[in-house]
Amino acid sequence: MDRRHCNRDGVLSCALCTSSSRETSGHLFFTCQFSVECWLRIGVDWSSLPSAPSLPDRLHLVKACVPARIHREVFLSVAWELWKCRNDKIFNDITPSVSSWLARLRVSPNVQSCRFNSGSFDLL
Ligand SMILES: [Zn+2]
Repeated sequence: MDRRHCNRDGVLSCALCTSSSRETSGHLFFTCQFSVECWLRIGVDWSSLPSAPSLPDRLHLVKACVPARIHREVFLSVAWELWKCRNDKIFNDITPSVSSWLARLRVSPNVQSCRFNSGSFDLL
């Protein structure tokens, strides 16, 4: 994120976990312990993939774990809500929790319904 000048006054570590991991898109959306727990809550277990999976590999796994017709919407909404959790921590000092992330994920399709197929998230 620092490459895109999204760092926070020189702080380059992840805002979602207590590790000192550098906040990269890969860490934030896929390997951060918080993100891993979020993905697990919807049935996506990245540990079943080989090391260093590609983005298409990850999308393929999501397709296998959620109804295939909405896998793209799920993928993007999960990432979007993780990003919002990150921003809430940085800008509003709100500690991220998986339960609040899941609650936001459930209403996300209502907020962004113009982008998704109708009824896309009925199954989450
Ligand atoms: Zn992290």
